[in-house]
Amino acid sequence: MRHLPLFASLAERDCLIVGGGVVAERRAKLLLEAGARVTVLAPRFTAPLEALAEQEPRLKLERGELGEGDPEFEPYWLVVAATGDRQVNARVAAGAERARRFCNVVDDPELCTFIMPAIVDRDPVTIAISSGGASPVVSRWIKGLVETLVPQRIGSLARLAGRWRGRARAALPDPDRRRHFWQQAMEGEAAEHCYAGRDAEAEAALERDLDAWRRGERGSRRGEAYLVGAGPGNPDLITLRGRQLLAAADVVLYDRLGAPGLLRYARRDAELIPVGKTPHAPSITQKQINRLLVERAAAGQRVCRLKGGDPMVFGRAGEELDALVEAGLPFQIVPGVSAVVGCAAYAGVPLTLRDVSRTVLLSTGHTNEDGASELGSFRPGQTLALYMGVAQYGAISAELIERGHSPQTPVAVVENGTTDTQRVVRTTLGLLPRARERLEIRPPALLLIGETARLAERYAWFGPSRLEVFDERAARGLARVS
Ligand code: SAH
Repeated sequence: MRHLPLFASLAERDCLIVGGGVVAERRAKLLLEAGARVTVLAPRFTAPLEALAEQEPRLKLERGELGEGDPEFEPYWLVVAATGDRQVNARVAAGAERARRFCNVVDDPELCTFIMPAIVDRDPVTIAISSGGASPVVSRWIKGLVETLVPQRIGSLARLAGRWRGRARAALPDPDRRRHFWQQAMEGEAAEHCYAGRDAEAEAALERDLDAWRRGERGSRRGEAYLVGAGPGNPDLITLRGRQLLAAADVVLYDRLGAPGLLRYARRDAELIPVGKTPHAPSITQKQINRLLVERAAAGQRVCRLKGGDPMVFGRAGEELDALVEAGLPFQIVPGVSAVVGCAAYAGVPLTLRDVSRTVLLSTGHTNEDGASELGSFRPGQTLALYMGVAQYGAISAELIERGHSPQTPVAVVENGTTDTQRVVRTTLGLLPRARERLEIRPPALLLIGETARLAERYAWFGPSRLEVFDERAARGLARVS
């Protein structure tokens, strides 16, 4: 271990920074954030430093060169040398050393008596990462990793635990038992309430738990359901929150679309139950899914219902939520990248575009029992995104043309969007039925109709995607551009 990590309490303590450039500015802000009084010594300062000094009484700018004699280091707890001049920096370091003050020399680990870590700040939780000065890039990379894994609200959990420390000590005098209590609390209901921003419920859950532990029970765990958007199929597109809840779950109920690549983020001992519905084939019903969700959560398990795309978009979330509300069970909903935004991005089709499209309609190609559909609301100057309904592309095309849309209206069909098997078929409203048949378009596919669909050729960027243009020539069998 080259350095001993310490967390210094700098509130109202004086620190000195020598140098007035951008690096000095960054260091000054950091020290101010930690509550220090900061003196910056330099012949000139960046404009933001000067502006900051106007409003921040704890920041003092002292104009001057580092002269022949050392500045006085004794009044300062910490010294930072950030002049960009190695010789001047070395003199600062030597002076600080003589005065027994810790000194950080920017970009010069050899001269440092303390170094600055990469910081993950979840006040009051602070995580510091250092590579011993060897490689700031490595530290920042680890910081990125930690940022994704540690919930944003871990700080409120820490504050809660802090408030209850005394009461827990009184209620559970045996340190081993107390440690077990806290360990369970960190993974239990109180923690989940904290992460979901429900501080009062967190407080109540912790009180209940502590009470149970004091009576010699282990504390009951109330189950909870998480409706988590898995995104459209590319496992990188799940949200951080979705991944955290997936990793916390005891049971995962997952869809056929989107979810399977994500199961590796579940706990190794989590129970994984596929509940995907296959169109036109016998499979689990929505009622059975609702029942499973309620049963497991009521039994005290944390149930992650991993749904393709976004749970609130054509995901039948309403029925699952109704079942949970009726059973009085708590739940959380985590958004996901819906097929419409996933496919638009990975196929290079803007959904809105200045002067071209200002409205996006999301619908399904399905008609209801009376033969009515929502296609009537679609107007030129809009983008229509149709989920499902590949089998109805013929009827959709006929109805829109019948309603006065030009057969030349550009269309893009995105099959298996965002995944390595993505295919984009660029055609027109008039040719869509033949394109579907000849190019054998299969679900899952998203149909984008409107002028912006044309841009799929210009904005194609996703390496694995195949673009097929089905125009008049292709339709006459003369050529097929791939
Ligand atoms: N809740 C989901 C939609 C579920 S309905 C969401 O927000 O995306 C299922 C339909 O979504 C499919 O029939 C298809 O139209 C569309 N879809 C889902 N994933 C897709 C993908 N990777 N590529 C193209 N369409 C997709």
